Amino acid sequence: MPDKGTVANRVFLHPDCLLHLAGMDHPERPGRLTAVQSALADALVGRGRFTIPRPATLDELLSCHSREYVDLVRKEIRSGAQTLSTGDTQISPGSLAAALAAAGTVISAVDAVLTGDSRTAFCAVRPPGHHASRDKGMGFCIFNNVALGARHAQRKHGIARVLIVDWDVHHGNGTQDIFWSDGSVLFFDTHLGNWYPHTGAASEQGEGKALGLIINRPFARGAGRTEILGAFRDTLVPAAERFRPELVMISAGFDSRAGDPLGGLALSDRDFADLTDLVLGIADRHAGGRVISVLEGGYNLEGLASAVAAHVGRLAAER
Ligand SMILES: [Zn+2]
Repeated sequence: MPDKGTVANRVFLHPDCLLHLAGMDHPERPGRLTAVQSALADALVGRGRFTIPRPATLDELLSCHSREYVDLVRKEIRSGAQTLSTGDTQISPGSLAAALAAAGTVISAVDAVLTGDSRTAFCAVRPPGHHASRDKGMGFCIFNNVALGARHAQRKHGIARVLIVDWDVHHGNGTQDIFWSDGSVLFFDTHLGNWYPHTGAASEQGEGKALGLIINRPFARGAGRTEILGAFRDTLVPAAERFRPELVMISAGFDSRAGDPLGGLALSDRDFADLTDLVLGIADRHAGGRVISVLEGGYNLEGLASAVAAHVGRLAAER
């Protein structure tokens, strides 16, 4: 049972996340967040709580990104550039405020969960983050929101070991890069193989202290419940048993849902609910039930909304 005063779940969203405009025809659009927000308003009446977070600070950004990269992002957005020079991320005048809000949302959620305000949190953010490495934004991402949250948990709250689970259809190459030789983060990633960003082979396992703590499971087009829930049960659960995470985070991309225009996997809303339960089981066993879920991809607006509602419904359930 949660402590007195601890709510089961809070949903964090910052209005500045709507200010990032990637172009009229771009799939990563503000409507994604409004679809998520209305789905959650319907699904969470009386259970979830909406909270407005604060933006990230420069010091927080530098826990995962180089000073040169942060300066480049600020300079290029201010210059009116339409694409980050490091990769395929469209930018607009509001993109810096949005990226700082997205990163700060996850950091605020970490504070809420680690101070006992809520047991779980869902961060409705954009731009997404898991393709952003230390020195490079790409794949619609500017700053690595989930990695910044994990580092904040370690730096400000003394958390030693964080598990990051990434079920987005695309490999979380930026997160993998940031924690490649770290040793304090277990990174487990299921994704579509031979697909953007063309990393994430099973042979990529980390190095040094982190050897074996990077776990990639690429799947063939059309894979779904059997393969992905199977990998969570057969690979993630025993890996977490060895690692004993003190905090669990999810890079929750819903472009792995059937019918996503940028995807090719076949998960259903029920599958996301069951994946959520598997992750909650790991968190209950090792991490005091503490789970922070961070929105990544998901580009079919109706599918995104219903999948997020199924996911957050489980995060918000009393246990
Ligand atoms: Zn994705």
